[in-house]
Amino acid sequence: MKILQLTWAELADEFKIRYGKGKYHATAVYREVYKNGNLDFSHVDEFSKSQKLAGKIQSDLVLNPGLVIEEQKDKRLVKFITRLADGLEIESVIIPMATHNTLCVSSQVGCRMGCTFCETGRLGLLRNLAVEEIVGQLYTARFFLGSPIKNIVFMGMGEPFDNFDNVIQAIRVMNDPRGLDIAHSHITLSTAGRIDGIRKLGSLNWPRLNLAVSLNAPNDRLRSKIMPLNRAVPMDKLKESLMAYPLKKSGTFFIEYVLIKGLNDSHEHALELADFLKPLPVRLNLIPYNPLSDSQFKAPSDQDVHRFSGWLEQETIFVRKRWSKGRSVMAGCGQLGNKSELKQKFQNYKTHANTN
Ligand code: SAH
Ligand code: SF4
Repeated sequence: MKILQLTWAELADEFKIRYGKGKYHATAVYREVYKNGNLDFSHVDEFSKSQKLAGKIQSDLVLNPGLVIEEQKDKRLVKFITRLADGLEIESVIIPMATHNTLCVSSQVGCRMGCTFCETGRLGLLRNLAVEEIVGQLYTARFFLGSPIKNIVFMGMGEPFDNFDNVIQAIRVMNDPRGLDIAHSHITLSTAGRIDGIRKLGSLNWPRLNLAVSLNAPNDRLRSKIMPLNRAVPMDKLKESLMAYPLKKSGTFFIEYVLIKGLNDSHEHALELADFLKPLPVRLNLIPYNPLSDSQFKAPSDQDVHRFSGWLEQETIFVRKRWSKGRSVMAGCGQLGNKSELKQKFQNYKTHANTN
């Protein structure tokens, strides 16, 4: 029984089938595992008269969030690397906030979208993460690293809509009030613009969940150059899918725009971008480009970022500047997956996978 992929209701169903027991014991187990990080049920009240059952459940439960093999810190920011059961590694980042923390989770090992400015994109896709591997990142951050996580952003490695079903089930588990209890309004899904995913998410009717779209360019010509996905799904199609999305009343989309010096940062680009965004209820997150290990692009100066956001604000676009935290440990957006040993492992795995 892989508890990291089950909601409370699913665990209760499983208990019924396996042990002929239902909600009472499932509630206790779910609480102990997810609220208290406790995997020993022998002292739990609900099992005081059923020690045998406690032992049986304990031996049936599988909880395998992977092994943290490395932690890198930059002030209060922590990037951690988890080794999965098959030896592949993923990265997650704990971003400190005033009272609680935000966890940036990975949804895939690598990514097949191939955005040219993104380190993860360079790796290509190795495989999707299982539900338990996505939820495992939160479990690890809370219980092994002791971090009070209240927000989740799917902005680590991978394109969440390329692994739609597992990401959605992971959100169900993370959201379960009897367990990890992360509210939808505290979860952000970020996509490079998979409109099939946007449509499917819309049909779930989760109006409080936040949706972010990585736009990164003001027109198709430029966007197709840096984000290959745009060649299949041009910007007007993306806009249509956002217009059709059942956003909650007075809700907004988040638009991510990675500002790259000399590429997408001119006054004309700002006007074009504002024009594109005007019919949409959006907040724009302006992210200064984080240089990759051997960059073809340049990072903007602080002044470039202020100037670009000023132009957008003049066009009444709401802008937030995201000064990248964690650059020194390569934990900034788009920097995940840069480590050379990691790259080597990917290479080996790919060769291995191809010869099998
Ligand atoms: N695949 C999803 C989520 C992961 S990428 C997506 O693309 O939205 C998370 C964010 O990091 C995206 O907004 C992406 O545009 C940004 N990003 C990628 N490479 C970057 C880099 N080198 N510098 C700054 N931001 C980057
Ligand atoms: Fe994948 Fe997002 Fe990176 Fe593009 S920006 S390659 S979609 S992780």
